[in-house]
Amino acid sequence: MSTPAPREAVHDFSRKLRQPSLYGRVVDYVAWQRQVRAAKARGEAGPAMPDWSPLSINLDLTTACNYACDHCIDLEILNSGIAYEEQALRASLKEMAARGLKSVILIGGGEPTVYPGFAGFARYLKDLGLAVAVVSNGSRNEKILEAAERFDAGDWVRLSLDAGTDATFQAMHKPKKPVTLDHICAGITRIKAANPAPRLGFSYIITWKGATSRGADDKIVENLDEIPLAARRARDAGFDYISFKPFLTRREDGAEVMDPAQAEAETAAVVARIRARLDEAKAFASPSFKVLESANLKMLESGAWQAWTQQPRMCHMQALRQVLTPLGLYNCPAHRGVPKARIGEKDAYASPASCHTTAAGTAGILERFDASVECREVTCLYHDTNWWLEEAIEGQGLDRADAVPEGGDWFL
Ligand code: SF4
Repeated sequence: MSTPAPREAVHDFSRKLRQPSLYGRVVDYVAWQRQVRAAKARGEAGPAMPDWSPLSINLDLTTACNYACDHCIDLEILNSGIAYEEQALRASLKEMAARGLKSVILIGGGEPTVYPGFAGFARYLKDLGLAVAVVSNGSRNEKILEAAERFDAGDWVRLSLDAGTDATFQAMHKPKKPVTLDHICAGITRIKAANPAPRLGFSYIITWKGATSRGADDKIVENLDEIPLAARRARDAGFDYISFKPFLTRREDGAEVMDPAQAEAETAAVVARIRARLDEAKAFASPSFKVLESANLKMLESGAWQAWTQQPRMCHMQALRQVLTPLGLYNCPAHRGVPKARIGEKDAYASPASCHTTAAGTAGILERFDASVECREVTCLYHDTNWWLEEAIEGQGLDRADAVPEGGDWFL
């Protein structure tokens, strides 16, 4: 049932999960699911899920944001004023690290560097031995600089910039305090000088007129033609790579999807324009600077994206990667903030007792959340990983001997 598609190594989640640092948990998870299903077939209750934490989390440090981007998919949950209690959050990460957590992506909901004590918190994650990544809008690079010396070679920082010119940057992001694209790019030099180890990325969501059929198209600022300009700018600023991905929208029930109506109407023409600009951008690639295309961009281009909307009933990634936000614990970034995707409270992992409750909550959502229905419009990057695990559960299980060499990338 899995549909292989060309993809960058960073999006090859099945291979990542077979690294020795992660694979033991995956093998154990599959063995546990096999026991649960065998018990169910006998009409018995299966074993409880052990008090595992996920292997990787998206951690929304705050819902506050200092931009007002017209293409933001998290508008509904921004600036809610709901916050963590720092000690409880630190306790949560400590408990999770003790239960198998390997990596943390500090990301939105809001802008992570707006979180008070951002740098101290990032250093705390490193003290726990976790791999750390930051997805930021770039407006407060000095906060990232404060933590930069603690980052390792497997860690990364990715700035969501989406423009080749400052005029387009301003129109798309509407920063509440003045900041220019030049200023943000200059900050990259300082972070590199402080520590060249973490990879620094320039992220570019490609937008075009007609990118949504949901009545908000007048607000879309088109940046498609600035793809080559952005690649040159990223290279000159000292980024390690630029990555391009197509605009996603949120369906009315909250799922993050490629808009199917748009895809049917105008995909071919838009994809041809994107391809031409990407080919120009690739001229700026070098051994020290990569031009990357997201897996869903390749799927959009190949026309294969609809196959990636066919999920197994049970999404196994819910047990391996979760989203912790000030609004609660959720099963997936594509359903962040959506009530039926909620597993627990923001302090779901803050103590041994709550970890125990949350393990039951995770086992519950594995049964309850029908991904074949809830994610039927999501071009899910975990599609083939989910099918691989489903087939292992229904088949012979997994064998630790099938691990691949350690690559040091534990982000899911
Ligand atoms: S199937 Fe994909 S989109 Fe749906 S919850 Fe799982 S990982 Fe998320």
